[in-house]
Amino acid sequence: MRLYEFEGKKLCARKGVPIPTGQLAASPEEAQSIARQLGGRTVIKAQVLAGGRGKAGGIKIASDADEAGRLAADLLGKVIKGNRVDNLLVEEKLDISKEYYAGVTYDDVLKSSVLVFGSTGGMDVEEIALRNSEVIHKFPIDAFMGLQPYRAKEIAKEVGFSGGLLRQASALFLGLYQVYDEFDATLVEMNPLALTADERLVAADVRVNIDDDATHRQTLLAEMGIKAREDKGRPQTELERLAEEVDHLDHRGVAGRMVQFDGDIGLIIGGGGASLTVFDAILRYGGKPANYCEIGGNPTVRKVKELTKLIVRQPQIKCLGVITNVISNTRVDLVARGVIKGLLESGIDPRTYPVVFRSAGSWEKDGYKILDKYGVKWFDRTQAMDEAARYLVALNREMGGR
Ligand code: GDP
Ligand code: MN
Repeated sequence: MRLYEFEGKKLCARKGVPIPTGQLAASPEEAQSIARQLGGRTVIKAQVLAGGRGKAGGIKIASDADEAGRLAADLLGKVIKGNRVDNLLVEEKLDISKEYYAGVTYDDVLKSSVLVFGSTGGMDVEEIALRNSEVIHKFPIDAFMGLQPYRAKEIAKEVGFSGGLLRQASALFLGLYQVYDEFDATLVEMNPLALTADERLVAADVRVNIDDDATHRQTLLAEMGIKAREDKGRPQTELERLAEEVDHLDHRGVAGRMVQFDGDIGLIIGGGGASLTVFDAILRYGGKPANYCEIGGNPTVRKVKELTKLIVRQPQIKCLGVITNVISNTRVDLVARGVIKGLLESGIDPRTYPVVFRSAGSWEKDGYKILDKYGVKWFDRTQAMDEAARYLVALNREMGGR
C-alpha cells in the first residue's frame, strides 16, 4: 500500500525525523490561510500516488499567501499522471542548499534490508544513479540487530557528514529505519533529503510503501487516520472485489489476486511466476485476457470453483484457460474438481465449453481422470505452457473471440 506524501511525513514526524512545517488543504481558501500562517513563501504540493510530480507540474512555489491560493485553485481537480488532485500539502518553502537521497528498502539480491544514501538526490536521482554508481551508497542492515545508533553514526560518517550534521544525519537514519521497521514498510524514501541554508537536514519529500500483507497488524496506522486501501492505480472493480472475497474464504492457498482487463479470455493461472509468463504468452499470440487470476499454495476446491463461476459468468468470456507450471504445492485434482464444479454450477456443460487445462504436478493422474470423466481436454507436462497459451488463443478465435 502506497502512502500519500503527507501520510508518509506523519510517520516520519512520529519517529523524530525533521519534516517541513505544513498542513493539508482541500480548497484554495484553506491553502491561502495555511500559507498565511506559514509566512507566505510556501511550496504547494499535489497529493497523488505517483512519482515525478515535480516534472508533471504537481509542485508549485508561492511567494505569498494570495499566490498560494491561486496556485492551489489551479492544481486542485487537475489530473496528474492519472490521479486527480483532491488535496494539497502546503509547506514552508525550504531554502535548500543541497539535495540528497536517503531511503531504506529490501534488497532481493543481498537478501537484506538496506539503507541507501545518495550524495546527489532530487528529481533525476534514478538517472544519476545509473550513470554514476559511486554516488549511491548501500548499507545492509541486520534484521535482528536492526539499525544500531553506533552503526547509524558510522554510516553518516562514511557518506561524508561531520560535526553537527553528523549528529543530525545519524539521528535521521535511525528515525528512517524505525519508520521502515515499525510500520512494516517495504520502502521509505526521502528524495530529496534537503540540507537547508541554515544547516538543517529535512525530509522534503517522503514516500512510504507498506507491505500489504502486514496492514492487518498495523493498527497504529489506522489510529493515525491512515486507512488500508487498494492502490491498483484505479478503483477496484466488482469482479476484483468478489475474487478477493473468494480468496478470504479460508486460509488455504492463494486463489484470487484478480485483475480485470478488457479482453475476452478467462484465465486461472499460476505456479511460481508462470502466471505472468502465461499471461505474456497469450498477449504475444494476440489474445486479449479478460483477467489475470492467480492460484497457488493448494487452494480448496471451493475457492477454485467460486473463481471459475465469477469468470465464466461474464458475458464477453468465450473460453477459459487454466494454465499452470508443474506445481508441487498445489494438487492438480483439486484444481480440476474446482473448475468442473464451477462450470456445472454455472449451468455449463464441461463437455462443450471451451476449456484449455494445462497443469501438472501433485495428484495429476487423479486430476486428468476427473477431466476425462467430464470430457475436458487437458495437457500435461509434455506440452509447454507456451503451447497451451497458443492453443487457447486459437480456440478463442474459433469461438468468435478477438
Ligand atoms: P516529486 O517530483 O514528486 O519527487 O516531488 P518533490 O517533493 O520531491 O519535489 C520536487 C522538487 O521540488 C524537489 O526535488 C526540490 O528540488 C523541489 N522542492 C520541493 N520542496 C521544496 C522546497 O521547500 N524548497 C525548494 N527550494 N525546493 C523544493
Ligand atoms: Mn521527490
